Amino acid sequence: VRGINLLRDPALNKGTAFTLRERQLMGIHGLLPPVVFTQEEQAARVLANIRRWDNPLDKFIYLGSLQDRNEKLFYQVVTENIEEMAPIIYTPTVGQACQKYGLIYRKPRGLYITINDIGHVFEILCNWPETHVKAIVVTDGERILGLGDLGAYGMGIPVGKLALYTAMGGVPPQQCLPIVLDVGTDNDKLLNDAMYIGLRHKRVRGQRYDDLIDEFVEAVIRRFGQSTLVQFEDFANKNAFRLLEKYKDKYLTFNDDIQGTASVAVAGVIAAMRITKTKVSDHKFLFQGAGEASIGIANLLVMSMTEEGISRKDAVSKIWMVDSKGLLTKNRPSGGITHHKEEFCQDYKHMTDLEEISREIHPTCAIGAAAVAGAFTEQFIKDIGSFNDRPIIFALSNPTSLAECTAEQAYTLTEGRCIFASGSPFDPVTINGKTFYPGQGNNAYIFPGVALGSIVSGAHHITDAMFLQASQALAEMVTDEDLAEGRVYPPLSNIRHVSTKLATRILEYMYKQGTASTYPEPENKEAFVRAHQYETNYESFIPVTYSWPGLTE
Ligand code: NAP
Ligand code: MN
Repeated sequence: VRGINLLRDPALNKGTAFTLRERQLMGIHGLLPPVVFTQEEQAARVLANIRRWDNPLDKFIYLGSLQDRNEKLFYQVVTENIEEMAPIIYTPTVGQACQKYGLIYRKPRGLYITINDIGHVFEILCNWPETHVKAIVVTDGERILGLGDLGAYGMGIPVGKLALYTAMGGVPPQQCLPIVLDVGTDNDKLLNDAMYIGLRHKRVRGQRYDDLIDEFVEAVIRRFGQSTLVQFEDFANKNAFRLLEKYKDKYLTFNDDIQGTASVAVAGVIAAMRITKTKVSDHKFLFQGAGEASIGIANLLVMSMTEEGISRKDAVSKIWMVDSKGLLTKNRPSGGITHHKEEFCQDYKHMTDLEEISREIHPTCAIGAAAVAGAFTEQFIKDIGSFNDRPIIFALSNPTSLAECTAEQAYTLTEGRCIFASGSPFDPVTINGKTFYPGQGNNAYIFPGVALGSIVSGAHHITDAMFLQASQALAEMVTDEDLAEGRVYPPLSNIRHVSTKLATRILEYMYKQGTASTYPEPENKEAFVRAHQYETNYESFIPVTYSWPGLTE
């Protein structure tokens, strides 16, 4: 690329950072103001601009246009200011952006495949300009964050999640492809929204829906090869479990809402064991919720307990779950036991009240993921505090307004004894002069590193065992100082380092298992991972020149 097109290609454009020599050689001299800025000076201007906006959605739009203009600068700013930027390019702001995706629409990003394209999915994938796609995040928009069915407006999620693949994991952006499968929407508001960008009819379900997804995963492999990672994101509960079962042993795929959540929550539990000086199998878990998050966590806890040496049956007996119809029990009169809940049904009487249930079974660990605000009542927290020296309380529901309890409630009502983590961030809490920093069980600790590790190792499948490896590796990165301050996760500012370490751990595990397919086996696996990570510093456009014997020109 030469000339003006160089400035129009976000993957190459350096804007005012093109040097005098580059401007002259590349045919863009005079097309830029005469001053030459460094990338750091440009980054400072970007930050000043972002901070000019009060409204997070405006920040989101500004960052999106930077991404369209100068990709390296975008990732440089996001990566170096991850704690400030993650809530803009991902939750919670991305949720707002999805709701208004038609209004703020400027330039297309990602690929739209609709139910009308059955029979032609491969052709559409061929229209994507990049050939070396390694990671796809796909949604059908039916359960966007906690916001429900947003149809084609859900595109913000694959776009945002893949931006985190790059910013947090270092997966090169050219290898990332965001996709929406548009089968319609059941959201009447969108069907009547003049700016809606998707198909304007109710969701197509049943055989035709399944046919589209089948054709899609097959076409991905035909177009980009069998080692292309496909991450399913924000599908409704019933499809999420079903599709995961159907594809996980056939393709390189995972579902972050189920498996990523599981991995980060179990990492928190494993880290908490260093405080309680117990094993996971010494605990009794009470879940408020039995959906994608809770079932995923429960399954991975079982795996971690069986690894400690107890039987699956004994492990399952330590898991008690409550859904919208009460405690999961055998032959429950209120029904509602779907396939993936079955194993967690206890032989016990029917009960519905969470406080009562907790008083009967005396849990050591309470995990909330039902999106019922305040479900962990004052009494509930006091009770669990009275059963345990160091109760574990994870209030995972998002956003903050839906959390089961606040960090302050958890610490205050247990006199600072509880080990607390949450899905949304909470400010530090000080009791009797001691300050606690609640950890945030953010999936972003896990998925970028697991994805990177799978891509680099040439994995054929992503197994639950790999997610358990990731949990263990993440828990090991929690320092004793973190634990002393109540944090069961490392600080989010360390995320790039965390992802690199996780990917390295996945690599080591894969080679040990004989399931890696990248040869020859790299000796220094961390260096190998780093060599595959995206570099946000600009490259020089001045070609390397050298002399031959007797020839210097
Ligand atoms: P989901 O699949 O829809 O599951 C929700 C579960 O909550 C279902 O089992 C539902 O019961 C149950 N439920 C609803 N009302 C209830 C009530 N009154 N009492 C008890 N249980 C009730 O949703 P999900 O994907 O698991 O997500 C749930 C929450 O977890 C969301 O707030 C989400 O933001 C959060 N989450 C957090 C993280 C994280 O912190 N890293 C990750 C993922 C999700 P039925 O089965 O009977 O319908
Ligand atoms: Mn999600």
